[in-house]
Amino acid sequence: MNKVVIIGGGVAGLSAGIFAQKNGFESIILEKHHTVGGECTGWDRQGYHIDGCIHWLVGTKEGTPLRQLWDAVGALDGVEIYHPESFMAVEMEGETVHFYRDLDRMKSSWLEIAPEDRDAIEELCEDIRKLHHFTMPAGKPMDLMNLLEKMKFLLSMKDVGRLMQKYDKISIGDLADKFKNPVLRGTIASFMPEGDYSATSLLFPLGTFTGGQSSIPVGGSRALSLRMEERYLSLGGKIETSCEVVDVEIQGKTVREVTCQKGKSFQADHYIAACDAHVVYEKLLKGNYPDREFIKRFDDPQTYPLASNIYVGVGYEGRMEDIPRTLKFSVDALPIRQNRKETEHLQMTHYAYEPDFAPEGHTVITFAINQFQPEMDEWKELMKDQEAYQREKDRIGELVIQAMEVRFPYMAGKMALLDVATPQTYQRYCNAYQGAFMGFWPTLSGKSMTHTGRIKGLDNMMLSGQWLQPPGGLPIAVITGKDTIMRLCKKVGQEWSRA
Ligand SMILES: Cc1cc2nc3c(=O)[nH]c(=O)nc-3n(C[C@H](O)[C@H](O)[C@H](O)COP(=O)(O)OP(=O)(O)OC[C@H]3O[C@@H](n4cnc5c(N)ncnc54)[C@H](O)[C@@H]3O)c2cc1C
Repeated sequence: MNKVVIIGGGVAGLSAGIFAQKNGFESIILEKHHTVGGECTGWDRQGYHIDGCIHWLVGTKEGTPLRQLWDAVGALDGVEIYHPESFMAVEMEGETVHFYRDLDRMKSSWLEIAPEDRDAIEELCEDIRKLHHFTMPAGKPMDLMNLLEKMKFLLSMKDVGRLMQKYDKISIGDLADKFKNPVLRGTIASFMPEGDYSATSLLFPLGTFTGGQSSIPVGGSRALSLRMEERYLSLGGKIETSCEVVDVEIQGKTVREVTCQKGKSFQADHYIAACDAHVVYEKLLKGNYPDREFIKRFDDPQTYPLASNIYVGVGYEGRMEDIPRTLKFSVDALPIRQNRKETEHLQMTHYAYEPDFAPEGHTVITFAINQFQPEMDEWKELMKDQEAYQREKDRIGELVIQAMEVRFPYMAGKMALLDVATPQTYQRYCNAYQGAFMGFWPTLSGKSMTHTGRIKGLDNMMLSGQWLQPPGGLPIAVITGKDTIMRLCKKVGQEWSRA
């Protein structure tokens, strides 16, 4: 009764594997790609390392429940944490607006730019400050709590609940409109792409950042995943890479075995699908075990949008310590479409604090350009013609470099295009439906979801990973991996152990 097959070796699959081993199960992770990590990864190009994920990791603060969880899976073992002074800087109309870690500094810098917005600035900063007491829960999932535990939990979330109610009902655009000053208004509006996105998308990241709860583990995303892999293997776990599960054999309500594309089959008592939800329901289970919550969301992309990225890596022959780590700057309508419109801002992140990511004296820079449904469909079409696909990637890379040369003329001739990843890249490497790198984005009309991972009609297969709690992200991946094993322990009548 204790063999577990885990489909997917992303952060959720690794977390599930580690806790499976800690709880006496015999587990194996089957991973499609040749390496683990899923979307939490990075890749090497022309002597540079492109970090493909962590811009912020919630849970780096010592003593918080989430930090304890990251430690329990070996993700942050002995790792130096880098605390950048600003979340992001946004250039607009000749001004630079900083989202400083020090909330008082942020407030006074904003007041200098827009004294007329004192009330709106103070209200926003005070609401952000209220989140400093909030720590992301990483204990038991709600469905495993008894009544008393549930009541305690709900009470502990009271203040956050109030803020959620306030900011969940207004869009980023509505929040921006509270500011008279055009620079602040434009900066806040640009926090998310144009649309009905809830203002919580600004409040929570800034709350955890200014509260010291989110920073960056030095070494980046791939190193974090590899540390988790090491922890899993040290506990006796097994990994089979280049092993995409393509078939699930079911008898009655029981999964009997799964088969990989190379024909190898794996049997277990329990199966955990720690991969993309759409892939699980539509490809692996062939639409035979529909889930209302997911169908509702996948069928209504207006209310439940998915987002992907064009992710451009550039190598620069020079140093960038004097430029904010993440900078958003205006560009003259670049012909790169985002939600059918041309790109008006570029968001770059440089890794000057990671000397090992670039040759001596050089710096690696990444650019994330969000892509939505219309573009995701276009990329899918384009992919059918490999030459046209490559030409489009090159065109985008060149446009990004040209825009950088306009913004930073002294960099001209010193930048090299390293790589351009598209929504199709995430689809190809991680089986990410439409290339979506996180769950459904929060909109005003969308409802939040916390899914238990139970697949109705199947007794021994569960879903895990970021899709259980949109919009997902790394904390949700590590938490849901653990939660799945907690549920499994309960199911087989076994005490849960985290140690
Ligand atoms: C550019 C970018 C920036 C990001 N920045 C951040 C950030 O700053 N902070 C943050 O918290 N999050 C960030 N994220 C999101 C974060 O990467 C994801 O939320 C997280 O990695 C999801 O983990 P997961 O294990 O749930 O899923 P995944 O990482 O998708 O893992 C699923 C795994 O399953 C494998 N798989 C799929 N199908 C099969 C199959 N049939 N058989 C076998 N294996 C299969 C895939 O190859 C993959 O390895 C970012 C993502 C991207 C792309």
